[in-house]
Amino acid sequence: MYATLLNAEERILQGHRLSLADFSELLEQRTPERQKRLADHAVLLRKQYYGTDIFVRGLIEFSNYCKNNCLYCGIRRDARQVDRYRLSEEEILSCCRSGYELGYRTFVLQSGEDVIYTPDRMERLIRLIHETYPDCAITLSVGEYSREVYARWREVGATRYLLRHETADPAHYRRIHPPEMSFDNRMRCLRDLKELGYQVGCGMMVGSPFQTAKTLAEDLLFIQDFRPHMVGIGPFIPAQGTPFSGERAGTLDMTLYLLSIIRLIHPTVLLPATTALGTIDPRGREKGILSGANVIMPNLSPVSVREKYKLYDNKICTGEEAAECKNCLSARMESIGYHVVVSRGDYCGTENQHD
Ligand code: SAH
Repeated sequence: MYATLLNAEERILQGHRLSLADFSELLEQRTPERQKRLADHAVLLRKQYYGTDIFVRGLIEFSNYCKNNCLYCGIRRDARQVDRYRLSEEEILSCCRSGYELGYRTFVLQSGEDVIYTPDRMERLIRLIHETYPDCAITLSVGEYSREVYARWREVGATRYLLRHETADPAHYRRIHPPEMSFDNRMRCLRDLKELGYQVGCGMMVGSPFQTAKTLAEDLLFIQDFRPHMVGIGPFIPAQGTPFSGERAGTLDMTLYLLSIIRLIHPTVLLPATTALGTIDPRGREKGILSGANVIMPNLSPVSVREKYKLYDNKICTGEEAAECKNCLSARMESIGYHVVVSRGDYCGTENQHD
């Protein structure tokens, strides 16, 4: 049968390329039966490429200072009640040390856009971590910089970069960001990172203010075309001290449905079941894995600062030591038949020939 005669559900299950209209149809007509069918198929595909392995990334939230003022984000510049902190190089290295002992082989350095951690200082830090742990992958998630800066960081040992595109719809982008931030620059960053040979992660919040089925369909079309190595999605959760503090959170079901769709349109993608998903449902991360995700990102930051890196309210796991976090998540994964592995957990597709 010609692909065009199939409905969107059949087309996605058979691995066809989807149009904007297909994605809109899938999103607007989400039934429990359809969601179950897509999730089952997503899990099948995920097992084909990654078995029952779960990759872990040790997340180090090293600074909550930020020069940006994103309307949704709990650590935005104007959020006055935030207790700001910045870990030193030694503290970050000590997080890596305990992470390494626990079996982590990927470190994710995430922060607000902190002007005190200049590109030069970041370069020294990346080099130091890379020299100390040459068998580990270094992932950066520190925001928008020039191509030249990304190239320097790549040269001294960073190999992955997470930069959520936030929304693929420029008009939607303008409604959730201040006027001085630019959709085009965010997209430029993603393209540069990919061209420089990073394994790149994009992504968006689910249920952010002003999001519609159409903007989400555009996100999916973007993911299908851009073919990132990773996609980070989680529900939007309102944060105190932001203009969106009174808005509704995104839902568990919509997030799970999107995880399945993303696995189906991009079978080899690295897909985390995020902390935000665990925050809106006590078994959110397990449900994420059972919808097609294959990565979890436990926290390695010192407990003394955990509570302060609050992108949104009621964030979970802020009181546990790194070892407890790891044990808890390993047990959660075992309970659903999956296994946390000691591995860098590289992308298994063919997009990145440089690493
Ligand atoms: N400063 C870095 C890291 C940002 S924090 C950067 O610009 O990339 C990581 C992600 O958290 C953001 O990209 C955003 O998608 C998500 N986030 C921020 N506020 C949130 C909220 N209120 N609810 C859920 N996710 C949020």
